[in-house]
Amino acid sequence: MAFRQAAWIALYLVLVLTPQALLFLGEVPPGRDFWWNFSMALGFAGMAMMGVQFALTARIRPMTSPFGVDIIYLFHRYLAWIALALVAAHFGILWLWYEESLGPTINPFAADWELTAGRAALLLFGLAVVTSEWRKLLRLEYGLWRYLHVVLATLGFGAAVAHIIGIGYFTASPMNRTLWLLATLSWLVLLVWVRLVKPMRQTREPWRVVEVRPGRNDVWTIAIEPDGHAGLRRFLPGQFAWLTLRNSPFGLREHPFTIASAPESLPRLEFGIKELGDFTSRIGEVRPGDPAWIDAPYGVFSIDRQKAAEGIVGIVGGVGITPMLSMLRSLAARGDRRPVWLFYGNKGWEDVAYREELEALRARLDLHLIHILEDPPEGWKGETGFVTREVLERHLPPEPRPHLHCFLCGPTPMTAAAEQALLGMGIPARQIQTEIFELA
Ligand SMILES: Cc1cc2nc3c(=O)[nH]c(=O)nc-3n(C[C@H](O)[C@H](O)[C@H](O)COP(=O)(O)OP(=O)(O)OC[C@H]3O[C@@H](n4cnc5c(N)ncnc54)[C@H](O)[C@@H]3O)c2cc1C
Repeated sequence: MAFRQAAWIALYLVLVLTPQALLFLGEVPPGRDFWWNFSMALGFAGMAMMGVQFALTARIRPMTSPFGVDIIYLFHRYLAWIALALVAAHFGILWLWYEESLGPTINPFAADWELTAGRAALLLFGLAVVTSEWRKLLRLEYGLWRYLHVVLATLGFGAAVAHIIGIGYFTASPMNRTLWLLATLSWLVLLVWVRLVKPMRQTREPWRVVEVRPGRNDVWTIAIEPDGHAGLRRFLPGQFAWLTLRNSPFGLREHPFTIASAPESLPRLEFGIKELGDFTSRIGEVRPGDPAWIDAPYGVFSIDRQKAAEGIVGIVGGVGITPMLSMLRSLAARGDRRPVWLFYGNKGWEDVAYREELEALRARLDLHLIHILEDPPEGWKGETGFVTREVLERHLPPEPRPHLHCFLCGPTPMTAAAEQALLGMGIPARQIQTEIFELA
């Protein structure tokens, strides 16, 4: 795993650094000093990083699987800031020390088009980063933001390519020009792949909603089955799918949801979806027979990737139960009697989604089910409050413990506190895994 991670990071560095290395190793135009060339290097580096940003969110499975999609999205988010800073520094150096190179006016109707393209690229990249970072503050609905993000990033990249070709400073030689054209072409291929080919492949493999069932805590069970094809060949318990319901897969209206069912019940897939926002608050309007499309499976949050685990610990809150539910269902279907400790936090007893099913699973598993209620009913004898080290110590086996693997999924304050508690108990960080339900 570490090797595959290192290999992808190395490839990233190669992709980002090669264009400028080749440009600078080639013919550097004469008569320019260090700061001028440095500014150009920053511009090319920023531009190459912006190009690779598209690949990071293209959900290329061999690339996402060593890290997890959530980590890749996190990279995407932080690298965007670095790329923007590089492009801004490229402009800033020219503005401070080579103002004449920016032309006599910024008026887009009077300035040289290639300079306007450069300024437009900087503005569009800036807007793409700012509207993403402060989306909630700007009250941008997630679906609308996604459209905006794709448009800003695509236009920004197009403007930057036009700027580089139009200026022609390092792209005059046939080799450099070919290099940039190749880079632009691969970016276009990626765009067509993600926005056209992938949705097209989804439309060829439609699914159908076969069950819609309300549950506690506003969690709806939605089950789908393949419509005229074999469906998913396999997935690991705990993995997730990008699910499109009713809308076309071209519509950028897909949402990530854990596959709450077990691989053993394929081809049927079940999701536990909590009413929350724009899309999920209308989940109860979905009807059996409605069309669905999926892009799956993704994710690394699975017992099947932890073969060494002699015992499994789940620490979950609310709808964070879904990955554990998939894993428990799968363990039961396989007759796997490894001990499982499930710490399940909820507000009240009536908020405990899948309560009866979890109770029933105890008969088929070595399952220690520990409910933790913030607001317990009268006479409650179980755990109350939040997940703390004391709660964990009370239920987990004393040292020397078997090799435990811990799966954390729920509100961030809960998973952060649980992680600290587990580390404090001497469980190594590599045995603690967190699934983040919020990608952006
Ligand atoms: C790996 C993973 C597994 C998940 N599993 C489940 C699950 O089993 N059950 C469940 O109820 N929820 C799950 N979620 C959360 C679920 O995706 C969001 O709650 C849902 O997308 C919210 O959409 P909304 O429009 O109703 O809410 P909004 O209020 O519009 O959005 C709430 C937040 O959800 C996120 N979000 C919204 N739309 C998308 C989207 N299209 N793509 C990515 N993120 C989005 C954003 O961070 C947003 O701030 C999972 C999320 C991830 C990342």
